[in-house]
Amino acid sequence: MRALADHRDIVSSADTDAGGHRSVAVVGAGITGLVAAYELRRRGVNVTLYEASGHTGGSIRTSRTDGFLAEHGPNSFVTSAPVEALITQLDLQDDVVEANPSANRRYIVRDGLLRAFPTTPAAMLTTRLFSLRAKLRVLLEPLVRRRATDGDESVASFVRRRLGPEVLDYAVDPFVSAIFAGDPETLSMVHAFPRLFELEQQHGSLSAGLMATRGRIPTAATHEATHEATNEATHEAESAETAPAPATRARLISFVDGMQTLTEALEASLAGTLRLGCPVRLLHRDEGRWVVEAGQDGGARSRTVDAVVMATPAHVLAAMELPAALRKHAALVERVEYPPVSTLTLGFEREDVAHALDGFGMLIPATEKRSILGALFSSSLFPERAPDGHVAITCFVGGARMPERAREDTDLLVERVLIDLRQLIGVRGEPVFAKHVYWPRAIPQYTVGYQAVKNAVDETELANPGLYLAGNYRNGVSVGDCVASGQQIAQRVVSYLTRAS
Ligand SMILES: Cc1cc2nc3c(=O)[nH]c(=O)nc-3n(C[C@H](O)[C@H](O)[C@H](O)COP(=O)(O)OP(=O)(O)OC[C@H]3O[C@@H](n4cnc5c(N)ncnc54)[C@H](O)[C@@H]3O)c2cc1C
Repeated sequence: MRALADHRDIVSSADTDAGGHRSVAVVGAGITGLVAAYELRRRGVNVTLYEASGHTGGSIRTSRTDGFLAEHGPNSFVTSAPVEALITQLDLQDDVVEANPSANRRYIVRDGLLRAFPTTPAAMLTTRLFSLRAKLRVLLEPLVRRRATDGDESVASFVRRRLGPEVLDYAVDPFVSAIFAGDPETLSMVHAFPRLFELEQQHGSLSAGLMATRGRIPTAATHEATHEATNEATHEAESAETAPAPATRARLISFVDGMQTLTEALEASLAGTLRLGCPVRLLHRDEGRWVVEAGQDGGARSRTVDAVVMATPAHVLAAMELPAALRKHAALVERVEYPPVSTLTLGFEREDVAHALDGFGMLIPATEKRSILGALFSSSLFPERAPDGHVAITCFVGGARMPERAREDTDLLVERVLIDLRQLIGVRGEPVFAKHVYWPRAIPQYTVGYQAVKNAVDETELANPGLYLAGNYRNGVSVGDCVASGQQIAQRVVSYLTRAS
């Protein structure tokens, strides 16, 4: 990582359109808040970034111990135009590592065996992941009528209706687990996977939609419906609502030293603006401006600013002292569910794992009734994740369907995870490395009826001029979405400040 000694290097005069005298408080130094603060500062706004914990990055955290690199949260993400622009601005191009091409191979567990997810029409015909009946059902997808009734529909209902129950169980369910640690029975199709939802709305079927949007021939489109739908779903959740980027190839990336490289570079560019260990406890409005009270017990300080960006998880609003107008509108927002997840990175001697680990990892459908939701073959995905002669595997446990599993202590968790790894990928010995991270509230669930939350977010902002809400509960949960969300909110704040001055 190249530290940015002086952020003025990257500020063009055209960007400094809000006037340096306007002040903004950004609350929360996860990727969303860091990007919002970075963009605001780039545009000449006087920013203070408050972070409750002692470090930046929020869910993004990397540690390296005994040669093993463990990602505590996200392991990789898909780039988009805004992400690529940010990487260039931060001069991180040389630190980027693209996922090994074998990452295209994603294993799904069926009846205790790993089956490569089919990625071509020919593979779809021959795969043993789906029964003949399921394959025939996929072929019928173009003939399935569009849903007659309006209103929200769960992911499970949408997929069952269009592609059949087996595709739900062995394709969509594991991908939903991987992206949201969620339950397809409760997640909303339109909010969790808006682009796929739109394909049916606009083209009548997923096959027709994929054909129209990609210019494929009909047979290929039909055969590929399942693969494309799940790939779309992955990519969509990883880049929903980001600006269209025709010239940019989406890349699955991390950094040589892990995901924290990105947040550290942002932090370095924000020198002087950051207040670590400084939770914001109170917000109130005073003569058109905002008073922010922040700090630990006994040491809280007030500061008056022109605008506030709340870039915390939604539930944080519940613990804060807020004016009545804000409390009233925020009530729905703060009820967004975030189920717990544990990540467990295990290191093994290479010879103690029978499987080739030649892919992205394995996803485990709920119907297989295992302890782990999925496992990434981390040291196959990116270089230098494990010392020579060793491998690193990152397992995810818990989520919306097994929250109690995420809360188990490290010893029990390792024991349970090892049972699965021994049976599924032939792990023989004991791990030589283990890093367990528990996320009590991991990823927001865009459940059926989520429009009410989105409306409440909009109403909160309307009723409280100068207050902005951003984060992974608003426009998508992926790191790429959060980058876009931080950039968009900064743009809106700059417009507000310009109007107000
Ligand atoms: C285990 C896990 C795995 C994931 N895997 C992937 C992946 O592989 N790819 C991908 O693209 N995405 C992944 N995600 C999702 C993605 O990492 C997150 O959605 C994203 O990082 C959230 O960023 P954020 O800034 O919106 O929120 P957060 O990261 O939650 O940051 C919010 C910040 O606000 C701070 N805060 C809270 N209260 C206050 C307060 N009162 N005052 C001041 N500060 C406060 C918090 O301490 C925190 O630092 C994963 C998430 C998790 C948890």
